[in-house]
Amino acid sequence: MSESANPLTGPSNFIRDIIKEDLKTGKFGGRVHTRFPPEPNGYLHIGHAKSICLNFGLAAEFGGQCNLRFDDTNPEKEEQEYVDSIIDTVHWLGFDWEGRLYYASDYFDQLYEWAIRLIKAGKAYVCDLSAEEVRRYRGTLTEPGIESPYRNRSVEQNLNLFERMRAGEFPDGSRTLRTKIDMAARNLNLRDPVMYRILHASHHRTGDKWCIYPMYDFTHGQSDSIERITHSICTLEFEDHRPLYDWYCENLGIYHPQQIEFDRLNLSYTLLSKRKLLKLVQDGHVRGWDDPRMPTLSGIRRRGYTPEAIRNFCANIGVSKTNGTLELAMLEHFVREDLNRRGQRVMAVLRPLRVVIDNYPNGEVEEMEAVNNPEDSSMGTRKVPFSRVLYIEQEDFREEPPKQYYRLSPGREVRLRYAYFIKCTSVVKNEKGEVVEVHCTYDSATRGGNAPDGRKVKSTIHWVSAAHAIEAEARLYENLFSKENPNDEPQGNDFTANLNPNSLEVLTNCKVEPSLAGAAPLTRFQFERLGYFCVDPDSGSGKLVFNQTARLRDTWAKIEKRL
Ligand code: ATP
Ligand code: MG
Repeated sequence: MSESANPLTGPSNFIRDIIKEDLKTGKFGGRVHTRFPPEPNGYLHIGHAKSICLNFGLAAEFGGQCNLRFDDTNPEKEEQEYVDSIIDTVHWLGFDWEGRLYYASDYFDQLYEWAIRLIKAGKAYVCDLSAEEVRRYRGTLTEPGIESPYRNRSVEQNLNLFERMRAGEFPDGSRTLRTKIDMAARNLNLRDPVMYRILHASHHRTGDKWCIYPMYDFTHGQSDSIERITHSICTLEFEDHRPLYDWYCENLGIYHPQQIEFDRLNLSYTLLSKRKLLKLVQDGHVRGWDDPRMPTLSGIRRRGYTPEAIRNFCANIGVSKTNGTLELAMLEHFVREDLNRRGQRVMAVLRPLRVVIDNYPNGEVEEMEAVNNPEDSSMGTRKVPFSRVLYIEQEDFREEPPKQYYRLSPGREVRLRYAYFIKCTSVVKNEKGEVVEVHCTYDSATRGGNAPDGRKVKSTIHWVSAAHAIEAEARLYENLFSKENPNDEPQGNDFTANLNPNSLEVLTNCKVEPSLAGAAPLTRFQFERLGYFCVDPDSGSGKLVFNQTARLRDTWAKIEKRL
């Protein structure tokens, strides 16, 4: 990273440059105050992490503050469950709003007053066109819009009708309050945008107090203004809304924050639309919002990703002014990099094959010393029991080994990690002809994994002592979607047709070393030679369930090397 890189917001970027300039010129009196403004209509996803890291990170970097604000203007889609999960998730990511938790709905009274102010100034009117008519009158990018026949109502009429809208006299959708700007404006957002709509719906915080609700555009900038935000950082799709953001601040004569847009995060094989994620949950394509295959932060967390890894990823992807799509492998790279450093290594066998060491004394148990993390000697060592009957991975044995297969096979000698050399002498098969047990002999002189006579083996495999093994379930994951761009819908189908039917594989007969007994949910491990795994919260009362966090192979590291 460059000299000016920040651990939270990464190398220098244009937003930081704007802030630095503003600090120099004293534009906001030397203050930096940002906010993260989620709508509580779903769970946060990895795209939101980018925005969270940016907003909280910039505030931290410049000694400023960052608020958490719920943009809750749509009672039909918003719920307390989402509010709770968002609060929990932002904390988990490692950020703190220091008590500045706000809700746009807390500003409804103020917004209503401001609407009245615009009506009195002749800059807003009640319109009786239906939503469909409003859309038709709006015109297109090449044609100007048509003025509403209600545009020239008197201030008194408008005040009266707006008050009655609020009082609940009119049905949903029958009227709106609109800003009187310019139906011929090049920017469609300035063609008399709707400020308020009628919606007889209970709000998760204000209950039935209101039956008119402000639109996003009439809420967001004013909320920023009330909170005295300096830099209102949002994604590129709001660029066309900035003139309206500015218009409201100017015409209301209120404190005016600066809106700055950056590119949305998109990832290959991943969907980041809350609407589509909700559909996956509702239609049962996944086990819930926190299914480890989901790109939600709660899913990612359950999968075993660390907040540090996500923050590193966000710092490294940077921000720009053009949308693109990043490789999912890049996110996984940051997860591996972090887990490789901190995850304890243990031995686990996912698809067990019994191995009997015929010349090892029956009933004897030895404690083998195993290294907890070769990357970090301070993590120490532990004892792993070794005995006559073991489990190894089925794929570590082949009765007829292909060329270049150096693991166990008849007559072949291999090293058991932290233990001995063993040599396969015979196999036992079931009636279907499948190998169900492998017989071996061991060389007692090779304890610790080296032969005193200097002879070499080409392979080292992991194992678990059968008598000491703990039963476990492992959930293995592939990408949730098999198409690189899951939004690319096949003809006649929706995006769910792009789901990968093999995204989840459950192995119920795994054997893990006894040190894993009672491992707490969300504890992360590296299963030797297999990959990163994390204890699932479904574990408990004797049951042990692991989620596969990531495979060992790092495709992104390879790509990076080539770049
Ligand atoms: P969706 O379109 O899926 O509903 P949204 O943008 O409406 O997402 P919000 O809850 O409004 O979701 O988002 C809160 C903040 O997070 C906004 O400032 C938004 O710009 C930002 N954000 C949302 N998605 C992404 C993304 N993919 N990358 C970066 N920032 C994002
Ligand atoms: Mg939004």
